[in-house]
Amino acid sequence: MSSSITTATTASSSSSSSSNRSSSDSHNNPFSPNKHISLHARHLHLLPNAYQSAGADAQRIALAYFALSAIDLLSGVHDAARVDEQDRREWREWIWDRQVDGWRAIDLQKTLGYLARCRTFDGAFGQSPGEESHAGSTYCVLASLHLGGQLHTWLSPAEQQKTIHWLSHRQDVTTGGLAGRLNKETDVCYSFWVGASLAILGHHDLLDASADVRWILSAQSRVGGFGKVPDEPPDLLHSYLGLAALALHAHDDEQDNAAFVTQGPSEQHQRVDAETKNPVKLALARK
Ligand SMILES: [Zn+2]
Repeated sequence: MSSSITTATTASSSSSSSSNRSSSDSHNNPFSPNKHISLHARHLHLLPNAYQSAGADAQRIALAYFALSAIDLLSGVHDAARVDEQDRREWREWIWDRQVDGWRAIDLQKTLGYLARCRTFDGAFGQSPGEESHAGSTYCVLASLHLGGQLHTWLSPAEQQKTIHWLSHRQDVTTGGLAGRLNKETDVCYSFWVGASLAILGHHDLLDASADVRWILSAQSRVGGFGKVPDEPPDLLHSYLGLAALALHAHDDEQDNAAFVTQGPSEQHQRVDAETKNPVKLALARK
């Protein structure tokens, strides 16, 4: 474990005293990639009962995606010491079993038209037409438009500015985290939903990423993974989205560093070395 990671975690713990939530679980609890990998690998082998209710069972592919992607973010999927070949083969076959050739069945224009109707007066998107603005839905719409190559067709520059304005005002100055709706409390998953939405629109830089990294780490569990808020047990959705948000913030930081280096390196920016190129490690190295 590098000293920079320990330093960042200590900074995170001390800053949490100004938070409106206590986070005793995160105190003196340095970020441990191995614990995060182990937690997600356990979920891939055996989903806890809480995930096997009638409603959640239909979402097993999403849960598997969260777990596999979390391990992948931490460079564990291709590490034979962490994931053996038999596991990799079985997971691959399980995913292929669920694959359907559904893309040709989708009417892209009708789908995008429906998504556009979910737009709200304040520039974000609701879960269905007429519903209030929600950061999760806003990410899903922006990502769908982006994947369909239609972002700039369906949203004018002025409309995009309105969306950017709404998103960039979701950061809470007290906790440093992000909230998903107006007047709601911060929650680890929204660090991703809001951060990734701004990244799609090219304005991730409007967030105070360092403050959000401290908030995410304050919700880290001793057994790996992240809870929704500090002191809540970890679950797959918040664990994966917490790691994804850390990687997103680190990626932005890495781009800043790359731009700086082309202008003329300084000691501060020369810290982008082999040790910190892992995006999550880089996120944790922030002061
Ligand atoms: Zn959440």
